[in-house]
This record gives sequence, C-alpha cells and structure tokens, in this order.
Amino acid sequence: MPEKQKINILWFTRDLRIRDNESLYRIMQEDLPFLAVYIFDEDFLNSKQYGFRKIGKFRAKFLLESVLDLEKNLNHKKIPFLKKFGKTQDIFKQISEEFDIQKIFCQKEWTKEEVDLENQIEKVLPNVKWSKSYTQLLLTPDFVKQKLDKIPLLFTTFRQKVEKNLTIRNEFGTENLVYNKSFFDLKLKNNDVTLSSFGFDDFEVNKSSAFPFSGGETGGLQRLKSYFFETKNLSIYKETRNGLVGEDYSSKFSAWLALGNLSAVSVYHEIKKYEAEFESNESTYWLIFELLWRDFFKFTSMQFRDKIFYKNGILDQQYNFRPDQNAITDWVNGETNSDFINANMLEIRNTGWMSNRGRQNVASYFCKILKQDWRIGAFYFEEMLIDYDVHSNYGNWMYLAGVGNDTRSRTFNAEKQAEQYDADKKFRNLWLK
Ligand SMILES: Cc1cc2nc3c(=O)[nH]c(=O)nc-3n(C[C@H](O)[C@H](O)[C@H](O)COP(=O)(O)OP(=O)(O)OC[C@H]3O[C@@H](n4cnc5c(N)ncnc54)[C@H](O)[C@@H]3O)c2cc1C
Repeated sequence: MPEKQKINILWFTRDLRIRDNESLYRIMQEDLPFLAVYIFDEDFLNSKQYGFRKIGKFRAKFLLESVLDLEKNLNHKKIPFLKKFGKTQDIFKQISEEFDIQKIFCQKEWTKEEVDLENQIEKVLPNVKWSKSYTQLLLTPDFVKQKLDKIPLLFTTFRQKVEKNLTIRNEFGTENLVYNKSFFDLKLKNNDVTLSSFGFDDFEVNKSSAFPFSGGETGGLQRLKSYFFETKNLSIYKETRNGLVGEDYSSKFSAWLALGNLSAVSVYHEIKKYEAEFESNESTYWLIFELLWRDFFKFTSMQFRDKIFYKNGILDQQYNFRPDQNAITDWVNGETNSDFINANMLEIRNTGWMSNRGRQNVASYFCKILKQDWRIGAFYFEEMLIDYDVHSNYGNWMYLAGVGNDTRSRTFNAEKQAEQYDADKKFRNLWLK
C-alpha cells in the first residue's frame, strides 16, 4: 500500500475568519500542506436540553452564512476546504483513512461540550499533536496571570487590575499570507448543508428586527466599518447603548464575535484607529469596557469550569425555585403580567435577538419574580440567541440569578425599567400588536 500523504488540519469551530486567526497563521508557518475543515456536528445539532434545542433557526442561518463566507475567503486563498455534516470523530476518522494527519490546529476551548468533542477526536487519532490558540480572548492568559493570581469574583476588581498598563497583543497578520503548498485531490466530498439539514424551513427576517444580521467575516467587518467610520455611532455609544429599537443603539458585534467572524483584538485595534483619526471619549472607552466584560466571563469559566452550569453556580449559593411549567411557558410565549417582559420575549422568539437591557430584565423576572430554575432560562436563550456564547450566556444568567459574579443579587423592577427606557412605548408597540 502506498504511504499516505502527511498533512496538518486546520479545524475551524468558533473562529470562522481569516483576519487575526492565530491557528491559520501558525499552520501557514509549517512545512506540511494542510486541509481546512468545518464540521456541522450531527449529535450536537440534534441534542436537546429541557426540550429546547441546542441551536434554533436564527443562529443556524447565521452559522450557515458564516461557513459559506469562510469557504469563499479560503477559496480565494486557494486553501483546500472540507465542509461536512456528521459526527466529528467519524469525519476525522474518514480523513485519516486518506491522509496521515500530523497535527490539528484549532481554537482553545475549556467548556464541557467543546472539550468532550476534542476527546472524541483524540480517541480516534491518539497520536496526533495539537496546537490550540486562545484567540477568542481580548487579553492573553499570560497577561492576566501577570496581573492576578486568580480571577476575582467582581468585575470591577478584574477590570482595574488589567487596565493598569493594559497591553493588547498585535493582530496575527494572516490577510496577506499566500498558500502555495501542493495538495492532491481529496476523495472526500463536501456536503451541501442547508437549513433543512438542521430540520428548519427557510424563513424571512422579521420586519421589526433590530438588525438584519448576515453571518460571516465579510458582514462583521462591514458592520464594524459602518458603526465606527461611516456613522460614527461609536462616539455616542455610551449614551445610546441601552436602547431597544433599531440598528444604531449598540454595536451588534456579539453575533460575529460569538462565532469568531470578528476577533475582539481586531475590534480593539479598530477602536484605537478611530480614536486616532476622529476622537477619543467616554463612549470609545466604553466599548472596550464592554469587551472586558466579555473576557471576564471567559476567564471566570476558565477558572470555575463546570460550575457555571450548576444550579448553585460559582458561588455555591443555595438557589431555590418552585417548578411551574405554566410560568415557564407564559414567559417563553410573552404572556406574563408585564408588557415590557412580553415585548422582549416576543422579540427574541421572532428574531433571535434581544437588547442587553431586555436580557437583564427578562432573566431577572424569570429568576426573581417567577422563581424558576435559572438554567431553564439559559437553555431557552441558548436555543434562541443569534449571538449565543457559552461563557456570556451562563455567566450573565448566573449573575442575575444571584449565584454568579454579583453577590448583591438584585431584582430588576420591569415597570420602572419600562418607564425609564421605553417611556414613549415605541418598543412595546413594536411587538405587542
Ligand atoms: C441573561 C443574559 C444572557 C446573555 N447571553 C449572551 C450570549 O449568549 N452571548 C453574548 O455575546 N452576550 C450575551 N449577553 C450579553 C449582552 O447582552 C450582549 O453581549 C449584548 O447585548 C450584545 O449586543 P451588542 O453586540 O450590540 O453589545 P454592545 O453593547 O455593542 O457591546 C459590545 C460587545 O461587548 C460585549 N458585551 C457587552 N455586554 C456584555 C455582557 N453583559 N456580557 C458579556 N459581554 C458583553 C459583547 O461581546 C458585545 O458585542 C447576555 C446578557 C444577559 C443579561
């Protein structure tokens, strides 16, 4: 039997971009040719928790668009790309029947399901080496280690420590790299993956949607350009970020950040560019402040691991609830006693999106007024959100349930919040027809 060709694999997961992609940068430095791979994992896509799917139609559409955009950008660079639907370990096994896989380059993960998936691959490819990059973070773990022995419970402590001599790494210069390694024909063929592969019908974007999200690096960079340089909305971010209606009130970067279409480091450097060209004010700083929140939840989950999924959270704080299916159903359907909560719940059900103000209110209502198991609320968000991110979702839910990074355990007063943020009822009228 002829010897199998030695190759490396660039395994894309939640780093679906070219720009500032450390794994792409590193694999390009190797002598061996490589194959880029994306796998729509069948087991993951079909699994459910408390009756809620792991991924709903809004994020499924965004993900498909992101992978298509990546494919286009890789083709442009002449990088061979394999797109498959199936069990991750089976696909790796199939590739290893054609090629002698030496090393897998991918994004570093530490949450349970993601690590389980890597373990499955290790079972079928026990001798393969791994190169994992922390490029989902703004701060490097080494920088944070220099500043803090452990991650503090409070964001303010974390922020104040890391902001002293804040150093953000440079972007990995991947955009102009040219791939010129020979590679012979791949027998495995791409799967044609559509919404129906996930069991969803095609759908139109709701006319009242806050933003017409389009997945992929191209759409993410376009939004960045428009929010910063074309409209200069960045200059008024702090005053507008608590809005509820329309495209302008906050960056909407979360969806692209969650799938790694945009890197937080690129966003940071674009803010700095904006500050140098136009102005630096409280708003331009505040977007960095919010990106630090994102990192804070990621470093928290790195420290506490599976505890972010436990009922009593990272605080080991007794969380009591009274199971009531009707209360959960009313919340999901936007049929509670609060019109502000209902409008927000209808928004997420119809668009996959909800503002930060809305999320805080509906989560607080679920935990503190309806007194339900916060994890069920988090599962529902996991299915619905176009920008679902494991660290931010479970971190924020724990926070509002009083078992996470907020030891004060506050309750939001939805009526007061509606008066403050939706005095003219524009938002409620949009959804409560
Ligand atoms: C219960 C609950 C669940 C949430 N689940 C998610 C989730 O699954 N995925 C997700 O990305 N965000 C989540 N958030 C955080 C926040 O609501 C969204 O990041 C934000 O609304 C996205 O809009 P934006 O991109 O326009 O934000 P902007 O206001 O423009 O902020 C810029 C970026 O900063 C980060 N950021 C802002 N606020 C937060 C925050 N509270 N926590 C973490 N990062 C933040 C996001 O990456 C965001 O894109 C959740 C918040 C709550 C209260």
